Amino acid sequence: MITLTLKESLNKNGCPICRTISKEFDNFLWWFEREGYHEISSLKALKDAPFICKRHADKVKRLKDKLNNTFEFLIKNDTELLMLLKEINLRKRKKLLNQPFECRFCLEEKRIEELAVEQFVKDKNTQKAYFESAALLCRRHLFTVLKISDSNLSEMLIKKTLGFFHESSSLLEDFFNKLDYTSKDKPSDKETDAYLKILEYFSVDF
Ligand SMILES: [Zn+2]
Ligand SMILES: [Zn+2]
Repeated sequence: MITLTLKESLNKNGCPICRTISKEFDNFLWWFEREGYHEISSLKALKDAPFICKRHADKVKRLKDKLNNTFEFLIKNDTELLMLLKEINLRKRKKLLNQPFECRFCLEEKRIEELAVEQFVKDKNTQKAYFESAALLCRRHLFTVLKISDSNLSEMLIKKTLGFFHESSSLLEDFFNKLDYTSKDKPSDKETDAYLKILEYFSVDF
């Protein structure tokens, strides 16, 4: 599944790994919204990381049923926990509360990201398609991939990104000059694209 999504993402501009994460995560959320609460392993994962970060809370708000069943489970889970906390002493309370604050959905995205990075590094066909495409790994994913690539792959990845910097430098210069209020011209589509591409390269979801 990841292989296919990664392959499709290479037909477009922008970072193929970011796009794969976003697509696979939407699939996960679709499944989670409908089936997640039936699965013991899903409920266990939710119990271990019972947070929803602000970024994912926005996504949840846009879902059709807004995770009705998930909240039922989370509230029951916290009710039991709070009742227990009421009964135990400070030492035990500290121990029980000493869990990391982790978002269930961030963990899922991380899992997808690791799979996509691993697939990118091991699959020669994906790499070939990447080097022939207009796609460009974002900074985060370029660096993640470089950490585990052999020297041949690293060299080619760096070359592609440097090539992109080189190609876009004069377009960006014109883009920013034309934004100036003294400029008579508006940035062209090509110049705006170069700007959006560089913005995407530096953008990151934390
Ligand atoms: Zn990326
Ligand atoms: Zn999150």
